[in-house]
Amino acid sequence: MTTSIGTRPQLAHLTAQIDDLKQRGTFFKLRVLEDEQAPVCTYDGRRVINLASNNYLGLCNHPKLREAAIAATVKYGVGSGAVRTIAGTMRIHMELEEKIAAFKNVEACVVFQSGFTANAGTVSSILGKEDFILSDELNHASIIDGARLSRAKIKVFRHKDVEHAEELLKEIENEPGRKLIITDGVFSMDGDIGPVDKLAVLAEKYGAIMMVDDAHASGVLGRNGRGSVDHFGVHGKVDVQVGTLSKAIASLGGYVCGSRDLIDYLYHRARPFLFSTSHPPSVAATCIAAFDLLESEPERIERLWANTWYFKEQLTSAGFDVGGVTTPKSETPITPIILGDGRKTMDFSKALFEAGVMATGIAFPTVPEGKARVRTIMTSEHTRAEIDQALETITVVAKRTGVLS
Ligand SMILES: *Cc1c(COP(=O)(O)O)cnc(C)c1O
Repeated sequence: MTTSIGTRPQLAHLTAQIDDLKQRGTFFKLRVLEDEQAPVCTYDGRRVINLASNNYLGLCNHPKLREAAIAATVKYGVGSGAVRTIAGTMRIHMELEEKIAAFKNVEACVVFQSGFTANAGTVSSILGKEDFILSDELNHASIIDGARLSRAKIKVFRHKDVEHAEELLKEIENEPGRKLIITDGVFSMDGDIGPVDKLAVLAEKYGAIMMVDDAHASGVLGRNGRGSVDHFGVHGKVDVQVGTLSKAIASLGGYVCGSRDLIDYLYHRARPFLFSTSHPPSVAATCIAAFDLLESEPERIERLWANTWYFKEQLTSAGFDVGGVTTPKSETPITPIILGDGRKTMDFSKALFEAGVMATGIAFPTVPEGKARVRTIMTSEHTRAEIDQALETITVVAKRTGVLS
């Protein structure tokens, strides 16, 4: 009989940190989904209304995407067998890149293993240590990691503060290095939209590279979900557009859109592209089918927005702080319910779960200290009855636990 080995003294510092999280009440266990990703599903044996996924358009189990994945598996097998640059570029990978480039109306596209690697691999490879990165303070972790890996000098501007970004640009105007302005299209914790249009003007004025991370905007903002560049009508003004295939597109992956030269450069220099194996063919086929659906079933996006506005209005009139006072104001299907205190937030999330609503508690360090929140995400596939049921549960639990008076 074998027994697993416990923590040895070498890792005792990790145990201390885990104990600290438990003390603060922010330690969590992973919730396990026992059926499909859907508006109502089963986590840890409990049926819940799911307000926690990024499955914006309900495509995670769409019959056409399932069929596409199965057909590709039958035809091409389950793996690609190599990194893209060695022997792992399959015809279907190229088809997906061409499809996305056409959808986004750009010259070219490269697909990465995830949105995380798309950001980190791009930012780290297009700049060097003599260069500058101007980054919104609430940008995603993958941008921050990419910026650090690039060794460029990082200037952080206050959230969505275009004037502050300009001040920082002026300070380095005469420095020889290249400048990159980067923002999330939609911010993942607050659900507000980045000022892509105004930052693009700034980039033009100072000759900076303009980059946007549209992970939460892909499939959500713009015509047929084309993203923030389309939402603001700034086509041709954003040099690097990153998107994800893991949220509304419902599969896995990330992509970069831009000029042919940008994409060829990333083929040669982006380290996750060069050193990590490409997607199984089923993933590429699923994504191709998902982009077809964005065009053929635009009513999903309309339903997503109708559900979103209804849910936000109802939460607001019930008296919840859904952002916009001490935190940014959500304008998208991501709606935070701000509680402030970390422990209170985690307890509220747990009580909601026990009452049949799944909504994630998010505390420091993912969000600033004192700005803890339960984050909700709406999808196109929640029915009005499910939304009403969720609202009732949230209100009842909030009153019982003193979150609402
Ligand atoms: C989720 C997310 C990513 C990472 O995308 P994955 O495809 O899940 O790796 C990148 N940026 C932002 C803003 C995100 O919300």
